[in-house]
Amino acid sequence: MQHGRCLCGDVEWTAEGPLERMTHCHCSRCRKAHGTPFATYAFAPGAGFRLRGAENVTRYATSPAFVRGFCGRCGSVVPSAALDGRLAVPIGSLTTDPGVRPVAHVFVASKLPWYEITDGLPQHATFEPGDDAPVLDDLPVPPVPRGRRGSCLCGEVRFVLEGTPVTARNCHCSRCRLARSAAHAANVIAPQDAVRITQGADQVASYKIPDARFFTQTFCRTCGGKVPRHDAGRGIVVTPLGAFDDAPGTRPEMHIFVASKAPWFAITDDLPQHAAGVPL
Ligand SMILES: [Zn+2]
Ligand SMILES: [Zn+2]
Ligand SMILES: [Zn+2]
Repeated sequence: MQHGRCLCGDVEWTAEGPLERMTHCHCSRCRKAHGTPFATYAFAPGAGFRLRGAENVTRYATSPAFVRGFCGRCGSVVPSAALDGRLAVPIGSLTTDPGVRPVAHVFVASKLPWYEITDGLPQHATFEPGDDAPVLDDLPVPPVPRGRRGSCLCGEVRFVLEGTPVTARNCHCSRCRLARSAAHAANVIAPQDAVRITQGADQVASYKIPDARFFTQTFCRTCGGKVPRHDAGRGIVVTPLGAFDDAPGTRPEMHIFVASKAPWFAITDDLPQHAAGVPL
């Protein structure tokens, strides 16, 4: 039995039977939905799948066949799309070890230019061979690159990074994994006035973990896309790297909270690894 949940716990699910075809997806829609350079999904059999808190799930269709779900309170991506009787499960939301491991990278044709794949898994331009689902064009990128812009999945929230980042990091802590429903978060951290929300500020929802000092997730109410979080208390802004439309001009410098890393994810790059956090 597998168990997964969103960050706040309003949505929870269990699956029976083995998860199949775990892949890392680099498509533009997964990147925006999760705020990460890639998302990891596997299929769970529809039979034996139970979702608690379905009334808390907001749905956003990114294609006629694929409706993405996220918790309306905390923004975590949750399973919602049934394809051929199977559910596409965001593996980052698991609290159990699924036993199985990723078998391939998909939608590598849409990969972020700055993100380098360093493992030896097979790479496919779009879906895995044999999967004949329709392939959508990448989300449109604003035509004239002017700076380091980003947006949510639906495009209602837009921002620009104008200042100089302090650092960028991959965080493997359990909160980040549940918040992003992904292997790890990947954020650029900058002085708080370095990122300006240029559109849709009133569309941004936020969820703070009650017993956390700082940990807050910010996301678009309509699509669940992860967007920058201004933290006035610390004087910083934390921006998910998957949300950028233009090259952000920076890339992760280290892995932090590696002691909490997901059992199904292997770090294969040569960035420094820290067991816990590292002060800014
Ligand atoms: Zn939630
Ligand atoms: Zn995808
Ligand atoms: Zn949106």
